[in-house]
Amino acid sequence: MRRCEEYICRPEKPQVTPMSVFEHSEFDRHEAIHFFDDPATGLRAIIAVHSTVLGPAAGGCRRWHYASGADALTDVLRLSRGMTYKNAVAGLPFGGGKSVILAADNAPAPAEQFREFGRRVQSLGGAYITAEDVGIAMDDMRIVREETEYVSGLPQEGKNAGGDPSPWTAYGVFLGMRAALRNVFGSESFAGKRIAVQGVGHVGHELCRLLAQAGAELYVADVNRGNLRRLAKIVPVTEVAPTDILFADVDVLAPCALGNVLNSETIPRIRARVIAGAANNQLAREIDGERLAAREILYAPDYVMNAGGVISVAREYLGESSEDEVRAEVGRIPGRLDEIFAEAAKTGRPTNVIADELARRIVEESVSDQRRIA
Ligand code: NAD
Repeated sequence: MRRCEEYICRPEKPQVTPMSVFEHSEFDRHEAIHFFDDPATGLRAIIAVHSTVLGPAAGGCRRWHYASGADALTDVLRLSRGMTYKNAVAGLPFGGGKSVILAADNAPAPAEQFREFGRRVQSLGGAYITAEDVGIAMDDMRIVREETEYVSGLPQEGKNAGGDPSPWTAYGVFLGMRAALRNVFGSESFAGKRIAVQGVGHVGHELCRLLAQAGAELYVADVNRGNLRRLAKIVPVTEVAPTDILFADVDVLAPCALGNVLNSETIPRIRARVIAGAANNQLAREIDGERLAAREILYAPDYVMNAGGVISVAREYLGESSEDEVRAEVGRIPGRLDEIFAEAAKTGRPTNVIADELARRIVEESVSDQRRIA
């Protein structure tokens, strides 16, 4: 595992001062933030519950080697709020939360750490439901499941929804990218379209498979050579250096690695006309959406695009849906994007701002409904 600071996706400097989580720039009135430090297993983790207005806070667990605890806090707060917005816009009966496990080094975590993490999730009594995110595999979630019932993203049973959410995320991104193509190029055909994919891990790999099948020309970068080799075995790709991929001469850029890649330093150099990928928190700051709009680059808001995974995880957790129903639900992602793109075109406002307003409106309406019923 590599440290976040080594990559081009440098997090913004956290504006946190000791003992002042409330003043943290990303605090955004989180309902609860839980810090865990367990000397027996070496588990250091943060669970952030942003909102339970729409239901229990659902969002994955990320395991990462952060440069500092402050970076981990910034990451989990941003990701957690993003889950509130993602679940709201996707129409799911869940609030938003997220957790991070602070990896001490590059070694895989011992099973006992995941067990301890499961116990900590259980101790919150269902306020937070976990699943896999970057750095966590389905097998890790199996271990977590031994200690808590508040977990999803487990192996699929029969025709029921469930299993690894990544293919569903990739499918949603594929459909969303098609909507963005239609919007910018007047045709949703991928034939001959040049697409740069940053990160070919769980989601990026499957996305590339779908795009190649649809006739796209692929340019890919990853800091993990094994993942590049695995992809090159199944589809034709042109490899690009990780430092250059964001600035490739392509039609579409699909960030599928980590967040903060779209910032004041990178945006002026981007050549793609569409940005449509899976990574969470692609914009380093809200104003970066404006920077993209000013350059007439269409940005497909990340949490609207990448909701396929959480749709699958949510339906698995509720135990009420088949795979076909999940496919139909993921199929609604392009329609939501069309509405956001249309509103952006009509008002000249950035797509990220329109998506955030939509998400906040859904949550606020639910609060008003609950007050009325009470
Ligand atoms: P992953 O860890 O399997 O893949 C990420 C890939 O990005 C890895 O291969 C890694 O080596 C590569 N990478 C990291 N930094 C890079 C850099 N600077 N340049 C090039 N490559 C780099 O993770 P994933 O599950 O595929 O998720 C990818 C992104 O999508 C994450 O931001 C995640 O939060 C988001 N996301 C994932 C899901 C899901 O279902 N897995 C759902 C929603 C959002």
